[in-house]
Amino acid sequence: MGAYEGMNKATQVVWSGEKNYLAHGATQVPVVHSVAYGYDDIDEWYEVAIGKRDGHIYGRNTNPTVQAFEEKVKELEGAEAATSCSTGMAAISNALMTVLRPGDRLVSIKDTYGGTNKIFSEFLPQLQIEVELVETGNHEQMEAEIEKGCRLVYLETPTNPTVKITDIRRIVQAAKQSGALVFVDNTFATPINQNPLALGADLVIHSATKFLGGHADALGGVVCGDRQLVEAIYHYREINGASLDPMAAYLLLRGMKTLKLRVEKQQENALAVARYLSEHEKVASVYYPGLPTHPNHQIAREQMSGFGGMLSFALKGGLEAVRQFLPQLEIAHRAANLGAVETTVGPARTTSHVENTPEERAALGIPEGLVRYSAGIEDQGDLLADLKQALEAVNEG
Ligand SMILES: *Cc1c(COP(=O)(O)O)cnc(C)c1O
Repeated sequence: MGAYEGMNKATQVVWSGEKNYLAHGATQVPVVHSVAYGYDDIDEWYEVAIGKRDGHIYGRNTNPTVQAFEEKVKELEGAEAATSCSTGMAAISNALMTVLRPGDRLVSIKDTYGGTNKIFSEFLPQLQIEVELVETGNHEQMEAEIEKGCRLVYLETPTNPTVKITDIRRIVQAAKQSGALVFVDNTFATPINQNPLALGADLVIHSATKFLGGHADALGGVVCGDRQLVEAIYHYREINGASLDPMAAYLLLRGMKTLKLRVEKQQENALAVARYLSEHEKVASVYYPGLPTHPNHQIAREQMSGFGGMLSFALKGGLEAVRQFLPQLEIAHRAANLGAVETTVGPARTTSHVENTPEERAALGIPEGLVRYSAGIEDQGDLLADLKQALEAVNEG
């Protein structure tokens, strides 16, 4: 376990994982671009190659900058081990492909991230893996499906984009009774607000592209859990080659130093925006786990230490109103990213669920006029004023 284990996360985001990689007295982890690593002693080389001794052989397998990033996330999630991938989707697909076999059954929710949902609906069935997707937040239905027997329960909480909440502890209990593994996509909560491993999950997955990096300038994914499971995923990833680039690892490492500051500010802003919108006459509904009106607000209170920077809302005028509203916003980027220092906003149909057809989105309970809002770190008053003026431009329809 790392040197900063047990310390406050504000300290861990700055210091965890870095110490062993600070060569030549550098105060920042260097970006090691070298693809290969040389050895004069072939016995030492061999021992590194078979994992008996620390070191690096080839960049598709391991890289020092990438390892520093993995160690930082590992410590923040309180995990035994972590490994990384080129993107969040690579982390998700590598984790799934490592554990699932033909004939296995997977239980998950309808509201997973669009790409994850595509793996469930398109690719797993090709491998004779049965996928059962239950209504997100319906714990009884999920328990009943788990009880029928399954290899893996896959959760994402809060979900993208409707920020629905699943009770991780409760589902873990059902999964354990059925001998199933539990994976949790923790991208929206971040390790600042939620540690699924401490709630009993077997694996936590992040799209590091989002909050961890926080600056919308690097793609990455990471998984954390017990050593055996993480090593199996690492082994699959080193062979299929979806490795994290060292430059991306450096950007993610640097971004993570401000993770706690950013998330705190983002969730302050998100709550203020959610409260403002829920009282606005042109807004039909607001989805944010920090609002007492959220159906699973109480579960969120129990398993999260903050409600996060993501919310979504629907306008009374539907998609036509969204067409008028979005271009009026002066501050927010209209872009598919989320979790960055800049506020970003966009309809689900062009962001999280762009991979799905309108019919699929309807089946997932995502209105075509739903707007996803990722609160940045800008001034709260400016963000609220911007929403106010943009909503004024919407014709009552
Ligand atoms: C973006 C996202 C992913 C996919 O991550 P990429 O880095 O874009 O591949 C997975 N899960 C959630 C919740 C996301 O928001």
